[in-house]
Amino acid sequence: MRYVYGFEEEAPGGRELLGGKGVGLAEMTALDLPVPAGFTITTDACRAYTAAGRQVPDGLDEEVDEHIVALEERAGKQFGDPHDPLLVSVRSGAAISMPGMMDTILNLGLGDVAVAGLAESTGNPRFAYDSYRRLLQMYGEVVEGIDGHHFENALAELKRERGVTQDLDLDADDLRELIATFEQIFAQDAGAPFPQDAREQLRRAYRAVFDSWDTPRAQVYRRTYEIPDDLGTACNVVQMVFGNRGERSATGVCFTRDPSTGEARLYGEFLVNAQGEDVVAGIRTPEPIERMRDVLPDAYDELVTTLERLEEHYRDLQDIEFTVEEGTLYLLQTRTGKRTARASLRAAVDMVDEELITREEAVARIDPAQLDQLLHPMIDPDATVVVAAEGLNASPGAASGAIVLDADTAEERGRAGDDVILVRWETTPDDIHGVIHAKGILTAHGGMTSHAAVVARGMGKPCVAGCDTLHIDATAGVIRLGEQELSEGDVITIDGGTGRVIIGSVPLVAPSIDENFRTVLGWADGMRRLGVRANADTPEDAAKAREFGAEGIGLCRTEHMFMAPGRLPVVQRMILADAEPERRAALDDLLPMQQADFEGIFEAMRGLPVIIRLLDPPLHEFLPSLEEATSDAMRTRIRQLHEANPMLGSRGCRLGLQFPEIYEMQVRAIVRAARAVADRTGEPPLVEIMHPLVGFREELRRLRELTEAVAQEEPSVAYLCGTMIELPRACIRADEIAEVADFCSFGTNDLTQTALGFSRDDAEGKFLTHYLEDGVLDANPFETIDQDGVGDLMRIAVERARGTKPEIKLGICGEHGGEPRSVAFCHELGLDYVSCSPYRVPVARLAAAQVALAEAGVVAVAIGG
Ligand code: PEP
Ligand code: MG
Repeated sequence: MRYVYGFEEEAPGGRELLGGKGVGLAEMTALDLPVPAGFTITTDACRAYTAAGRQVPDGLDEEVDEHIVALEERAGKQFGDPHDPLLVSVRSGAAISMPGMMDTILNLGLGDVAVAGLAESTGNPRFAYDSYRRLLQMYGEVVEGIDGHHFENALAELKRERGVTQDLDLDADDLRELIATFEQIFAQDAGAPFPQDAREQLRRAYRAVFDSWDTPRAQVYRRTYEIPDDLGTACNVVQMVFGNRGERSATGVCFTRDPSTGEARLYGEFLVNAQGEDVVAGIRTPEPIERMRDVLPDAYDELVTTLERLEEHYRDLQDIEFTVEEGTLYLLQTRTGKRTARASLRAAVDMVDEELITREEAVARIDPAQLDQLLHPMIDPDATVVVAAEGLNASPGAASGAIVLDADTAEERGRAGDDVILVRWETTPDDIHGVIHAKGILTAHGGMTSHAAVVARGMGKPCVAGCDTLHIDATAGVIRLGEQELSEGDVITIDGGTGRVIIGSVPLVAPSIDENFRTVLGWADGMRRLGVRANADTPEDAAKAREFGAEGIGLCRTEHMFMAPGRLPVVQRMILADAEPERRAALDDLLPMQQADFEGIFEAMRGLPVIIRLLDPPLHEFLPSLEEATSDAMRTRIRQLHEANPMLGSRGCRLGLQFPEIYEMQVRAIVRAARAVADRTGEPPLVEIMHPLVGFREELRRLRELTEAVAQEEPSVAYLCGTMIELPRACIRADEIAEVADFCSFGTNDLTQTALGFSRDDAEGKFLTHYLEDGVLDANPFETIDQDGVGDLMRIAVERARGTKPEIKLGICGEHGGEPRSVAFCHELGLDYVSCSPYRVPVARLAAAQVALAEAGVVAVAIGG
């Protein structure tokens, strides 16, 4: 098998073989764009290496040697030459970009002798020694796993001794001294001196790239983003071009459109006289790309034209890395740019206007889960806030939480349910577990493209980066924010949309949706087959749902209405009643209250169907605890109602059959409310009455009878009578149940609980977490439908219910109804609608359109980001 391909060679595979970086470099080479020469070691090599227990496959070293020779011929320089050495960078690059992996080693090929040669051949000793000290550090960190702080402390110490603040203030002699220190650190920590042989360096570097695929942080990242473990990474070896050769050299990163807003303008950062990691690692704070027009005008113009060509070629927003060496531009990487949800929408709408893409492509491209970002809380504009410090608005949304200074504590407290803000000088891929569990990230260093910013944007988490008045003393557990000193555990609020940092917590409000959002979702609505409803219990929620595009209410849980503070005493009176007449009296008091609730919801949903579900939870939930009981009668009743397994006890329709007067009151309230609204508005509401937790046809038959009897006593309104399908038995006997149901709605929360035997209340905090971490399960079945188990039950139910009644309306109202993969599954099952919380309605609309497009083969399904 062949393992190595030059950028100019045709390879028998794309991204999955060459990795994202490799395929980008090969494509840019084919487009004749300015790319340095180099080659890619394929993911096949990585897989073979891993499969053989970290043994380099036969022939790989030789193939690499051949490609180095070819590179030497092109460059007219020799690898390891003591006078004018060819230098390369080594960069990992998987099919899906993964910040959890080793990324880059620059200047490979230098050694104690070659560095002197480089100093002489370039006439620039400072540049040569600067390049070598970087190699020592990067190689030390990524190949030998040496703690980067050892190098950074040595650098900081030298700057202090010299009385300077910037790296650039150190001269060639200073850097030589630094190199001697770095070599000592290296020898001490690695247990052997830095290898002087260039080929040896390279061989160890690509092994380190392969090893980095399996580091714990890479594994954590893959689990979070559900990236398969067996893809492996490719490794790119690229001839070095130097951004640190002086004032006419620079390095930078740039997006073809603004990744925060989507605006069609170049957006990026660069640093003169620097190497790539200075920008990405956020060690020096870079300048905005527009400044490059003034300092490097020719390279800037070429950058602009090159980016236009790249966008035309890829028909999407690109994110590139570049270097300018003595005025000449080189592209080192291009990839589809990660962007905020707002930017995704704007760029998609603009690209349709520019005729770069079709509407279908625009819809397919938006990551439904990412839309969530737009629905994130923001700081209430009316709140008075005192801004303690400001940084870059690196990732939108606002969050309050306790200050935490390290990733492990962030993970620990985050898992325990605490809101924490991870505060760091800068983040590195090692912090990923802390970032995942924090509500937001605040860093002192780094720009919009620093690690913290990129990762937070991808996760839709607020981030303020480059906050330069932030000072951290991690040992003492204190930070200074401008003038103020705060301790670990103190609460701060960050606003990733504006870059503000505020002491204490601040009221947050939900953001509203903009024109591009409406446009894209409007297109999506024309492409989907599934209906999208919302779960809403109050007129306010119903109005919000409608604003987000819900086409009805799929679930109105009436128990929340019982819990309202003014009502609880009446509800308790009803439950405590010894006999039916007393219970009926209390219910009579509740009736007008329920009727008013329903009227509010019907009015908010005028013209759209509303499913009202009758009381579901066990009655004891409404009672005080034994300790709180104020009378013996109450204590007795609490004891009577106690159940060891309330989730499997007297709840749902079992309650309705045992205490019919409760459901009678509810049906009466619904019918009267419908009549009142019809009279007021001239438009009868579309009422659907739903009975919960039905497992037997007979249960629903009796409840239907009860429903019809009450409705007949009241002024006439049309309504449907249906049931939830949330027990395995109901799925299996859906044919019988359908005989007495006008509609069925899958309650996948309970169906998951009962089919898997996993408690809804406890599993997630307990064994399920362990299962997910240990890989027993790939996904949380309460989040995304367990398609093989619960999904099969649903399939059976659909087939059997439709077998009895082809026109029966089928939907879903468990939490899964707003989760993109579950929405796709419901489409495949042929359900009529999904119903989810109002904030997830837009996500469901988009996901439903995407599955329809994919099914029709119009476009490939979008992968996130
Ligand atoms: C369900 O079980 O999926 C459902 C929607 O009902 P609830 O969550 O109220 O039990
Ligand atoms: Mg349920």
